[in-house]
Amino acid sequence: MARVTDAQDDFDDSVALAARMDATRMDLEVLTVRPLSSTMVRVELTGDALRSLAYVPGQDLMLTATTGPPVERRRWTIRSLDRERGVVALDVVLHRDGGASRLHLAAAGEVVEAIGPRGKVHLDEDARVHHFLGDQSFLPAAFVLAEAVRRPARAAVTLTVPGPDDRLPLAAPACAEGPVWVEAQGDDQATGLALLAASGLGEHEDGVVAYVGGEMTLASTIRSALVRDHGWPREAVLPKPYWRRGTANARHGEPGRD
Ligand SMILES: Cc1cc2nc3c(=O)[nH]c(=O)nc-3n(C[C@H](O)[C@H](O)[C@H](O)COP(=O)(O)OP(=O)(O)OC[C@H]3O[C@@H](n4cnc5c(N)ncnc54)[C@H](O)[C@@H]3O)c2cc1C
Repeated sequence: MARVTDAQDDFDDSVALAARMDATRMDLEVLTVRPLSSTMVRVELTGDALRSLAYVPGQDLMLTATTGPPVERRRWTIRSLDRERGVVALDVVLHRDGGASRLHLAAAGEVVEAIGPRGKVHLDEDARVHHFLGDQSFLPAAFVLAEAVRRPARAAVTLTVPGPDDRLPLAAPACAEGPVWVEAQGDDQATGLALLAASGLGEHEDGVVAYVGGEMTLASTIRSALVRDHGWPREAVLPKPYWRRGTANARHGEPGRD
């Protein structure tokens, strides 16, 4: 899939962008926005294009947050897709810092542009143990991926969320014990290390894969600890930075680089 950067000329042209990414451009209508917890809402959107949208668990939609110019886009994991009804659910963190996206405030009937599916992180079908570690923004991906693990393979989910009512239930046969919840520490690095400790991961064993997502420092801390300190092969750690503390994501919906 082509890499998208701000510099590319067609970024504001959604039709050209979708074609370049081999994805579908869709106009989706907001059906409902309802709370899942104090800091997360589920947004359901509908559109005819969803009836035939092909995707794999872990992929996301890129929504237009600001029509611009310049257009600002943001990404959310496909939590579920009901093709019969043409309805997709996105679970969106309500964070205090505001941002370009107003999706969590959308009213029923509003039309939002989406491009998808996007994203390259999906289940490693050869793995026998799948570990998911991250923060609340990674919860939808961790849950949808854990639900997709087929026994006898196992899934283990280790997450940090702001409060007790954010500990959403997970019904995943491969993760019978449910998620392990970890308190946030003083900073993202410390929280990353706390997640790693709670996951029980140490030296690498064959067939074990770690998927890591969320705040950029948190995700890179876990990745480095596994690869550098514990000697994990690079291909056994699948990290994805979702956002960066104190900095808005870039126009293509991913954290900007220095
Ligand atoms: C592939 C992919 C899949 C994603 N899936 C999901 C998903 O399913 N659900 C979900 O909620 N998010 C998900 N995210 C993360 C989401 O896209 C970002 O959090 C994004 O920054 C939100 O846009 P915004 O306009 O609200 O904030 P921005 O304009 O990007 O940022 C504004 C400010 O808010 C802060 N901020 C941004 N996100 C958070 C956060 N989660 N917590 C605290 N502060 C934050 C920033 O540091 C900045 O200071 C995903 C990201 C990617 C790349």
